[in-house]
Order: sequence, then C-alpha cells, then structure tokens
Amino acid sequence: MNQPGISTSPDTTGKLPSKAYAAQSPTSGLAPFAISRRKPGPYDVVIQIRYCGVCHTDIHFVRNDWGISIYPMVPGHEIVGVVSDVGPEVHKFKAGDIVGVGCLVDSCRSCEFCRAGLQQYCSGMVLTYSAYEKDGKTVTYGGYSSQIVVDESFVVKVSNRLPLQGVAPLLCAGITTYSPLKTWKVAAGHKVGVLGLGGLGHMAVKFAASLGAEVTVLSRSANKAPDARKLGARHFLQTTDDQQVKAAAESFDFIVDTVATRHDYNMPLNMLRTDGTLICVGAPPEPIELQAFPLLFKRRRVVGSLIGGIPETQEMLDYCAAKNITADIELISIKDINAAYVRIEKSDVKYRFVIDLASL
Ligand code: NAP
Ligand code: ZN
Ligand code: ZN
Repeated sequence: MNQPGISTSPDTTGKLPSKAYAAQSPTSGLAPFAISRRKPGPYDVVIQIRYCGVCHTDIHFVRNDWGISIYPMVPGHEIVGVVSDVGPEVHKFKAGDIVGVGCLVDSCRSCEFCRAGLQQYCSGMVLTYSAYEKDGKTVTYGGYSSQIVVDESFVVKVSNRLPLQGVAPLLCAGITTYSPLKTWKVAAGHKVGVLGLGGLGHMAVKFAASLGAEVTVLSRSANKAPDARKLGARHFLQTTDDQQVKAAAESFDFIVDTVATRHDYNMPLNMLRTDGTLICVGAPPEPIELQAFPLLFKRRRVVGSLIGGIPETQEMLDYCAAKNITADIELISIKDINAAYVRIEKSDVKYRFVIDLASL
C-alpha cells in the first residue's frame, strides 16, 4: 500500500506521515498531497484506511458550495479500515479490528446532545474534514488518505460478515437515511417516497423497505426504474412527468428528499397525505422556497435530519450486518476521483463510488 518515497511509520516527533488526495481551491480538482497525522494519544486508534465512499457532500465541500470550506482539503467521511495501533487507554479496539469512521471525529462531550449520544447536534462537534480540531487551529483531514488517527469514542465496530467496500457508504449515506426513518418510526403500513435515487436515496429505499414500508422511488431518471425495484421499491414515479406527479397527490406518509441541488420542494410536499412528513436530508446551497397553503391545509410537516450520533451509527451497522444490507457501489482507483465527481453531478453512479485506498 505504501507509495515509493513516502513512509507511513512515525517520524522523529511521533507524527504519522500519510498519503492523501487534496483539493487546494474550489477549482483545483483533487491531486496527491502529503499530510501528517497526529502522534497517537492515549485514547487514539490508528486506522489503515481500506475503502472510502464518495459522498455528494465531498463535492459540495471541494467546490465550496456552502462557503465554509478550508483548503487544502482532504475529503472523505465514509471510512472503513483496519486498526494498526491503539493508545494505552483504548479498551474498545485492538490491532487487527475492522472499524469505521463517519462524519464526526470529536464533540464537546458534555452538552445535553453529547450526553444523549446525539453528537451531530453538539455545537462543538468536529467534522472529519474541513474543520478545526478542538484546539481551534489543527485542520481535520478525511478519508481520501492512507491512514487516520481518531479518538476511540468516534470509531465504530464493523462486522467482518459484510463486504467492506459496500460497508463504507453506510458511515454517511447509511446513517443519514437510517436515522430519520427511525426517528419518525417508519414501519409496515407506511407509504414512503424517496426523492432522488443516488447514494443517500438508494440506502433510504433499502432501509425503508427493510422496515416494512411500501416504497416508491421518485426520480427524474426513467432508466433507474428497474434498479429501484431491485433495491426494494414497489413503485417508480418519474418526477418529470406531470401526469404521474398529479396522480400521486396526497398519497405518501413520508417523503425522504435526498436531492443535492436546487429543486422544487412543493412537488413532494403536495404528494403527502394530511399530517405527512417531508424529511429533508439533501443539502442544496440555495434557500428552500415553500408555499404556505400545501403546508397549512393538510397540516404537513417539513423536517430536517443530520447524519446520526455514534450509538445510532453502531446500531445501524449492527442492523445492516443482521439484515445483510450494504450499499451498491462502483469501486474506483483514487486517480479517477475527479472523473467520478463529474459523473455524480450527472447522476451517473450506481449508486455510490467507493475509493480503493490500495490504489493510493
Ligand atoms: P447523489 O448521489 O448525487 O444523489 C442525489 C440524487 O438527487 C441524484 O442521483 C438525482 O437522482 C437527484 N437529483 C440531482 N439533481 C437533481 C435536480 N436538479 N432535481 C431533482 N433531482 C436531482 O448525492 P448524495 O451523496 O446522495 O447526497 C445527496 C445530498 O444529501 C447532498 O446535498 C449531500 O450534501 C446531502 N447529505 C446530507 C446529509 C445529512 O446529514 N443531512 C448527509 C450526507 C449527504 P435521480 O437521477 O433519481 O433524479
Ligand atoms: Zn456524506
Ligand atoms: Zn456536545
């Protein structure tokens, strides 16, 4: 796995030189970049990264869509790998364990949300990349890299029963769709629409179907209809066909909106029954424009949801191991990452790219 000329063993200060791919600006694209991981502390786990999923959030960050990016940036928050070393106070993990890291690598650990295991809602949470560690100056680098050092409290256990490539996307696309379905108690008897069949969308279909719901994929892309059914959807609705959209008015209990770019939120809203819930997980940079009447007259709800906390991420991974659920992926070499971004932007991925870090 080592690139000639770059060692991954500790340097004289104990830091770990690591290989990575980074963006230097919103327009630079991604290219090889040498980074240094911190000297492992007592509670740290050193992970040799095997696979990292490519989330649309990586593209938003690399392109600075949200205006919060920090460069140079090493994206990647769907990480699975093997533990190579642990600090003396680490008790949950040992060398050789297969583990995962998602979107968070730290949080304040004392607020009401941290105490409830909802670290994603902690105002002091530290994102896996393009963020500052709690020292306020060290920038975090993500999973497009050879290894990572993470506090054990933010590392989760991965079953060796599932193919690891397909597990990587569970660390973001998986938990982001699992969490709201559980929060809103989606179950048998519910009609669930999933808007946008990409990385998050295809996991939402798998989870909602596994929970017993009757799932419909709402997609612009007619060519995805056969896949939608294979993923567990009972129905497919093409959102560019006005007749189909009209016929689906007031028919869903929940719609999970996973669309990454500007789109009409009133279209799914009108497809909800009275008291129906539009669950927004997609994160377009533009403001959401909602009409009042469709909300008021049917007492509909529009809610958001952000990834999931560490305990729920572990619960989701255990659920996937028990139910044999993984992401449908296309494995790529790191050198193809820029081309993969272009394909994602064209909705041309089935249904998640995953980087094989052996190619680094
Ligand atoms: P993705 O793989 O690109 O999937 C998005 C899907 O949305 C596409 O496959 C496409 O599906 C549909 N779509 C794209 N552009 C559209 C448009 N203009 N109008 C209507 N539909 C469109 O992206 P992803 O990785 O699933 O991420 C989706 C969004 O979720 C991103 O904004 C990402 O940042 C966000 N996200 C949020 C969280 C959270 O915690 N809330 C976590 C992770 C990601 P069809 O071809 O089927 O129409
Ligand atoms: Zn993500
Ligand atoms: Zn907190």
